[in-house]
Amino acid sequence: MSAPLLRLTGLRKSFGEHEVLRGIDLELHAHEVVALIGASGSGKSTLLRTVNLLETIDDGVIELRGDDIADPRTDADRIRSRIGTVFQQFNLFPHLSVIDNVTLAARHVHRVPRARAKSRGLELLDRVGLAHKADDFPDRLSGGQQQRVAIARALATEPELLLLDEITSALDPELVGEVLDLVRTLAEGGTTILMATHEMAFARDVAHRVVFLDGGVIVEQGPPAEVFAAPREERTCAFLARFL
Ligand code: ADP
Ligand code: MG
Repeated sequence: MSAPLLRLTGLRKSFGEHEVLRGIDLELHAHEVVALIGASGSGKSTLLRTVNLLETIDDGVIELRGDDIADPRTDADRIRSRIGTVFQQFNLFPHLSVIDNVTLAARHVHRVPRARAKSRGLELLDRVGLAHKADDFPDRLSGGQQQRVAIARALATEPELLLLDEITSALDPELVGEVLDLVRTLAEGGTTILMATHEMAFARDVAHRVVFLDGGVIVEQGPPAEVFAAPREERTCAFLARFL
């Protein structure tokens, strides 16, 4: 098998006295879709935030295609252009149009000329079904549409890896489907995705692998059909029982 796209080895992270990640080893291969599941507070967001360098780590190694990205000498902006991230809160810039939200990084970080950034931005918006909203401001869009724009923005740098942190948790229930459908399309198109989610049915359907995190350690992982149907660990059973 080829070298992993992402490899986490012995990752540790504490906030004060509280050790939130307690030795995480995880590999993700290109085109893999991995769902991180676990109770609130188990460390899912912290794990994702360490991968895109929003949190420093106390110990361990984070490799993106073999590059040690947690090295303090790493240019974090460069790495973040290789890793697209979408959060629970869409964090669109309210004073920028949809197209400007999508093209901001391309124009300012990567110095892509305006016209080229715009045509690429429109392509991305088309991909998420929102080209017709390009000139609107975010507050004119529904939560589901805003989240789809946030996904388009995350894809703008053509990242090697997409991190999704409970991206449907802040949405009204009737808006969840359109966002999950988009993620499913990306997954089927071969995008490599590491996503924290509480959408168990979706994880079961779309993820190639499910990773169950509890108290900052990976308790169990495997294909969704195995982990959901026949969890091996007591803690996984107890967690999954809540969704039945
Ligand atoms: P999850 O995403 O699985 O709900 P988090 O990674 O957000 O879990 O949080 C794991 C633990 O780390 C929680 O106990 C949380 O309170 C703590 N934590 C997260 N971020 C910080 C922070 N910046 N400062 C202090 N504690 C934090
Ligand atoms: Mg979280």
